[in-house]
Amino acid sequence: MNKLIPVKALTGLLTLITFASCLTSVKTKKPAVVDPTLNTEVVIVEAPTVSKTFHTELKTKWVVEAIKVANCVLNHPDFKKKIEEIEKFDYSELNGVQVYAEYSNGSKCGVRTYKTKNPWSSAIATTYNTDKEFLYLNTRKFPFTVGKNVGVLSHECGHLKGFSHGDNRSAGKENSVNYKVGSIAQEISELCLK
Ligand SMILES: [Zn+2]
Repeated sequence: MNKLIPVKALTGLLTLITFASCLTSVKTKKPAVVDPTLNTEVVIVEAPTVSKTFHTELKTKWVVEAIKVANCVLNHPDFKKKIEEIEKFDYSELNGVQVYAEYSNGSKCGVRTYKTKNPWSSAIATTYNTDKEFLYLNTRKFPFTVGKNVGVLSHECGHLKGFSHGDNRSAGKENSVNYKVGSIAQEISELCLK
């Protein structure tokens, strides 16, 4: 395009730019102020609130819905009340107030899915000692009802927060933090689905 501009016009333009830039240099002795709103890359800084405890990078509808409801449950006053009034759990020294504090301390529970190689595996979900950020839901079993999905998320989130219930059998474990919180979360999810 530059080739098409006649030399005369170019000289004139150059003079104009020089003149203009002289004027500008007089006027702008102050350092340039960069307007941060001009930056097109918007960075959203999220506070570590309870409402964002459960999160995922997945777009799977039932995962997204379960996370939404699970976060609602965690923020629900009835959930808080029900957990906090428990005086004693199995497999933990903490009382209900302390357990709720752990669940609401802002540390995140990321959600991912996996599929067991063995189609007859009884595993519903798992966490790994080497991964403190994500819990994994077995897609051979999921999804259940939204309420049960939320119950399992809350149970597994407890594992990420350091709670456990001995071996993997569920019989007789209803008073452990994981199972208790899971069943209360499932119950409260009804209030979040209304
Ligand atoms: Zn468990």
